[in-house]
Amino acid sequence: MDCDILIIGAGPAGLSAAVYAARAGFQTIMIEKIGAGGQMMLTDKIDNYPGFPEGIAGFDLQNKMLLQAKKFGAKLDYGEVKEITKTTDGFTVTLSDGKIVTSGAVIVAVGATHRTLGVPGEAELANKGVSYCGTCDGPFFRGKKTIVVGGGDSALTEALFIAKFAKEVTIIHRRDRFRAVHSLIKQIETMPNIKTKMNATVEEICGTDNVTGVILKDTQTGEKTDFATDGVFIFTGLLPATNFVPEQILDGQRYIVANEKMETAIPGLFAAGDARSGAFRQVICAASDGATAANYAGEWLEAQRGNAYGK
Ligand code: NAP
Repeated sequence: MDCDILIIGAGPAGLSAAVYAARAGFQTIMIEKIGAGGQMMLTDKIDNYPGFPEGIAGFDLQNKMLLQAKKFGAKLDYGEVKEITKTTDGFTVTLSDGKIVTSGAVIVAVGATHRTLGVPGEAELANKGVSYCGTCDGPFFRGKKTIVVGGGDSALTEALFIAKFAKEVTIIHRRDRFRAVHSLIKQIETMPNIKTKMNATVEEICGTDNVTGVILKDTQTGEKTDFATDGVFIFTGLLPATNFVPEQILDGQRYIVANEKMETAIPGLFAAGDARSGAFRQVICAASDGATAANYAGEWLEAQRGNAYGK
């Protein structure tokens, strides 16, 4: 067995699970596709993680969590998981390069990736003015005109960040009211260079070498208009990264179904964070899920081995 507890994903849920699992004495390995931190890495400033009254940069919080997990002995490996198979004494996890990792229990903490709009020009102009990360790309739009598509917390948070650089940010939202929390809506209203265009969708993104504009459609009248912009930032929600997860534990939207102990219907397989069905998608909640999953994964493992963990 390569480890006691294998954690797939090293965002806040996976990192927190690693802190708890390793600190409890379990051999713990995290497997991450790109880099630790998950969506925290795309967030300029996290304002609502308790203990940081001035806010904390996503990168810094990720760094602190990773240091803490490693301090207790957790390891971080890189690879893309393709399959999880239940065996008689645990799990076999297969990576895309063919490597196999064996573990007693598994916690899936893969989070979610951004949704695309699926309109003409979006794929063609990706990285040429179309972006899904304000923190990464906002500074490239200093003094320029940009739009932000979406009406949730991400769209408004990112619009506030992009507005530090851009001459003008117009938030395009398909309904007549935002989904985002009241405090963000209030902040948006105080920003002179942030405008809003409600009841509008982006039908096409225009440009050849770079974005030059979009075609907007009024959702009430159906009227289409050209709107000039240098950048299109898209924040239309998340898709769980659960392609490799057994179908039997996924809900209709492909989120993982787990109970309050983070147990799935497959004994020994746990879920935590944004990929879990019904999760309140906040860093603090992902961290809480991770701690819970690690605790009950440890308890489950010890019960399999006939020990009295947690009693
Ligand atoms: P979200 O809450 O699902 O919002 C997605 C937004 O995109 C909605 O306004 C939705 O419109 C719109 N949308 C979806 N598909 C669209 C399409 N095809 N065309 C145009 N608009 C479309 O996603 P999110 O903002 O990424 O947030 C995800 C989770 O992370 C949430 O739980 C959120 O609370 C959390 N989060 C928290 C913070 C924070 O606490 N500071 C920051 C970022 C994210 P409708 O409203 O009409 O459905």
